[in-house]
Amino acid sequence: MFDKPLKSFINGEWRLPATSTDTLDAINPATEEVCATVALCGHDDVDAAVNAARAAFDGYSAMPLNERIALVEKLIAVFERRYDEVVAAISTEMGAPYDLSYNSQAECGPGHLRATVKAAREMQWEYDVGEDGRVVHEPIGVCVLITPWNWPVNQLATKIGPALVSGCTMVLKPSEIAPLSAQLFAEFIEEAGFPRGVFNMLHGTGAGIGDRLTSHPEVDMISFTGSTRAGVQIAKSAADTVKRVSQELGGKSANIVFADTDLEAAVTRGVLHCFENAGQSCNAPTRMLVEQSVYDQAVAIAGTVAKGVKQGDPMEKGAHYGPVVSKMHFDKIQGLIQVGIDEGAQVVAGGTGRSDGFDRGYYVKPTIFAGVHNRMRIAQEEVFGPVLVMIPFKDEPDAIAIANDTPYGLAAYVQTDDMVRARRVARLLRAGSVSINGAGQDYMAPFGGYKQSGNGREYGEFGLRDFLEVKAINGYRA
Ligand code: NAD
Repeated sequence: MFDKPLKSFINGEWRLPATSTDTLDAINPATEEVCATVALCGHDDVDAAVNAARAAFDGYSAMPLNERIALVEKLIAVFERRYDEVVAAISTEMGAPYDLSYNSQAECGPGHLRATVKAAREMQWEYDVGEDGRVVHEPIGVCVLITPWNWPVNQLATKIGPALVSGCTMVLKPSEIAPLSAQLFAEFIEEAGFPRGVFNMLHGTGAGIGDRLTSHPEVDMISFTGSTRAGVQIAKSAADTVKRVSQELGGKSANIVFADTDLEAAVTRGVLHCFENAGQSCNAPTRMLVEQSVYDQAVAIAGTVAKGVKQGDPMEKGAHYGPVVSKMHFDKIQGLIQVGIDEGAQVVAGGTGRSDGFDRGYYVKPTIFAGVHNRMRIAQEEVFGPVLVMIPFKDEPDAIAIANDTPYGLAAYVQTDDMVRARRVARLLRAGSVSINGAGQDYMAPFGGYKQSGNGREYGEFGLRDFLEVKAINGYRA
């Protein structure tokens, strides 16, 4: 199905790196077998891709919006026709179980592309201002898009969609750990018929080509999703040429459970949400803050839910969870579980070691820690695995203080039957998105972080704005 090794897409052609002969194996985390080999690009490939995007910019940015939208609609049609290939690619490369891949992970592709088209149709691209002026939105230029492995298609679509619609040209560097879904996405863009050079994709590592891409003088903007560590490096690398850097980074999101809610339902929902995607979601509710009076009861419910969780083969249908993405990531999570134990937190379910019943695959035991204090490392650091910490709180101000006591600010969750309180608390939480009583994230609502969770906003019109410059033309109506 895929080339061996995987080629990059530069100026409308599938190419092996010009000089680099390095390759990297991508590993299926359920079988521990090689599922793809990537030909890693070097600096000369970066230059070729950026130059192609630069050469395509004048023509593509001048194309009328309706024509760009028509191309994106072709892209959606190709994606939908080849949907099953995407589902299989995601489950193979990063271990999301079939149902999650089918219903959510792959669905984010057409879902976000459609929302971007809708937002573009509704947005006011230009308007009069003041006495005689005009405000005009224009594409920012050549963009570098850097994506992680955890919701691979989601991140591709939230960047490529608005970049294409707004008239930017681009170089994508997908995660080297999960290259298959990006390979398909690039094939879909080729099939949709975008002009040569508008979209380019380079396979490569952060260490190999990251700095060249993010400091390149011909690049105007970087849209990055990934760890806070890499986000900081990228911002520094981009600073000398004053690029716009949009960052979507890590999280340690609080889920506040008040005593007046349906405890069984709220705790169950919170635990399962934390464990979804094997805990590898940036906005996972990984700190459950529970009102003191119902804390012990909540811990008991969470323990029962965690012990009942099934894990299994990502390629099979059913309500089970999958492995985490890699051996390296498995080891990191094991280390952090041990840190929690050493800090004196109580293991209610799970713990260290591979999940029972598996002799291969990076299956982490779904783990619940109780008796956690918010200053413990296990409450402050992003684990990015199926690990939930449960922290008691006294009253509403205490809950808000604990929730905000984190370097991150991506998401937060509130569970209460008192809607007046829910709305009040939601406003006081320092997070980019707050969900009340299990509400899902809307494709048109902004998604992004406060504090060290980043500075960009994706989805719908907010996603488009990241890729636009704003021009004032004074005297326009004189
Ligand atoms: P990562 O930072 O290791 O890698 C992300 C991407 O950046 C990869 O493509 C990688 O090759 C590249 N990269 C790494 N160092 C680079 C450098 N110096 N220059 C240029 N590129 C570089 O992250 P990951 O392990 O792939 O993803 C997990 C992280 O992503 C978690 O912290 C998670 O919270 C975060 N995340 C955030 C969001 C969000 O929207 N806020 C969404 C998903 C994931």
